[in-house]
Amino acid sequence: MKTWEIYAIRHATNETRTRGVNFISDPDPTAPLTLDFFCWVLKSDDDVIVVDTGIDPAKGERNGHIQVMSPPDGWAALGIDPEQVSTVVLTHAHYDHLGYLDALPNATFYMQAEEMAYVTGPWMEKPCFRHAYWPDEIARLVHLLYDGRLHLHGREFDVADGISAHWVGGHCAGQEILRIRTKRGWVVLASDALHYYEEYQRGIPFTVAFNISDMIAAHDRIRDLADSDDHILPAHDPRLLDLYPAVSPDMAGRILRLDLRPEVAS
Ligand SMILES: [Zn+2]
Repeated sequence: MKTWEIYAIRHATNETRTRGVNFISDPDPTAPLTLDFFCWVLKSDDDVIVVDTGIDPAKGERNGHIQVMSPPDGWAALGIDPEQVSTVVLTHAHYDHLGYLDALPNATFYMQAEEMAYVTGPWMEKPCFRHAYWPDEIARLVHLLYDGRLHLHGREFDVADGISAHWVGGHCAGQEILRIRTKRGWVVLASDALHYYEEYQRGIPFTVAFNISDMIAAHDRIRDLADSDDHILPAHDPRLLDLYPAVSPDMAGRILRLDLRPEVAS
């Protein structure tokens, strides 16, 4: 049975955020809460899948998101030649996930059809829904579609043996999560369905939302698809650095191994 290793590249961070910026109606809104940014690589014995492509640093800096490591440097550190990558999963089209589309020149990209309809449809007339998208990156998706390099799939999709994509919506109309078979069981890479563990643990919504009821319902879907609460990975939580080891000492704070059992470092 095919199993996958999960690697996270911490490509950017924002240490100026507060709980009030991150969570709706937080009782302690001025307390600091760092927002980290991860993108991922899934590796099996004979295959590599890239999940999301990080953030264009020039766009990130406009919002105070400072690059830690470029995703191409992260891929190189993991022994990946971007020219050889054939499969890239885009969990949604927010700009902190689309920054390096052109660094993967031979890949086919996979995304929810609903996300593409959303980012090219009438909701984008509303500033509150379009603010985490950049039109040049959405245009790149259109070009990739016309080049036959973007596959827009339905809500449930098998990416590979042991990896499936599941629509949850909420954070944006086409947000998806990934269910990944690892040596220790089924892990759910929640992407931005969970920015922080706290959302799942307390049932609270993140501030960037298209549909809050779908966002909260996603917590149940995540719970159903993961083997346990210790098999769930949020996308922006600095706690990941405490729970999972770096791949090597020189990659501390930059590349983590997420398919292992989470353990608080002693
Ligand atoms: Zn997002």
